[in-house]
Amino acid sequence: MKIAFIGLGNMGAPMARNLLKAGHYLHLYDLDRDAVAELAALGGQASDSPAHAAQGSELVITMLPAAAHVRSVFLDTNGVLAGIAAGTPALDCSTIDPQSIRDIAACAAAQGVVVGDAPVSGGTAGASAGTLTFMVGGSAAHFQQVRPVLAQMGRNIVHCGEVGTGQVAKLCNNLLLAISMIGVSEAMALGNALGIDTQVLAGVINSSTGCCWSSQSYNPWPGIVETAPAARGYTGGFAADLMLKDLGLATEAARQAHQPVILGALAQQLFQAMSQRGEGKRDFSAIVESYLSKS
Ligand code: NAD
Repeated sequence: MKIAFIGLGNMGAPMARNLLKAGHYLHLYDLDRDAVAELAALGGQASDSPAHAAQGSELVITMLPAAAHVRSVFLDTNGVLAGIAAGTPALDCSTIDPQSIRDIAACAAAQGVVVGDAPVSGGTAGASAGTLTFMVGGSAAHFQQVRPVLAQMGRNIVHCGEVGTGQVAKLCNNLLLAISMIGVSEAMALGNALGIDTQVLAGVINSSTGCCWSSQSYNPWPGIVETAPAARGYTGGFAADLMLKDLGLATEAARQAHQPVILGALAQQLFQAMSQRGEGKRDFSAIVESYLSKS
């Protein structure tokens, strides 16, 4: 299949590599010409613009930093919509706000092009291993069209509903993850201050009603989970700044819906303070240090 792949950064490049491995022919575009050249050397073709990449493609995939980039790549004079043929499906895998992708999909629909959203979880390790989770928003027919290609980059392909609902699923999950990580941090730090062995405390939580992914698989307290970033100085994993970006999207989407996100807003401020301290590149579970005295 001829696929346009636009946005070849930390996530896009390994995803595109998996499509090349699966035998697809890629039309590649990124502002970073080196990123394009690297993948073109593996069998794809470099394109001059998003419109050029979309021309003759049977599917268009984008993986870009934020909504402004996605709008520009689809809607600019030389954007995807200027090159894509009517009837060709397109899919944005970036993490952006639900309304932006709905706006872009409405513009595309006017020329017979169906745009869906498919944000991912699994990080760069999942992108390289081809084990990402895709949360897909779009019609059932669009989902059936794109599913086989997504299955070559991921393991878990979930149809969430109409366009935008992939983003909704992603933002709600990450909102909860941020809150649960802060909750586990607070409980572990309190237990430690009150004198219980933190291994014993984690064991009790994980076999009791406080158990969650943040306590069980990714406990922020060092020495509890060998494979968690806490065991390696909070390196690797999911950067606090990426969590801060997702919390910003969630709180903004909540504002638009007049829906209170009280704990989410608090979580956003805690991660913002962490970022201000210059710790945005550390794993987000380092938020536990907000509860520790410096002495
Ligand atoms: P990145 O910054 O590494 O890559 C983005 C790429 O897009 C860059 O190569 C950049 O040159 C290119 N780009 C920017 N503007 C462009 C334009 N107008 N035209 C063409 N190319 C353009 O970002 P990433 O880490 O690959 O993340 C991509 C998306 O995936 C983001 O929305 C992010 O929130 C989401 N995400 C990232 C992770 C992660 O662990 N990195 C995990 C899940 C989701």
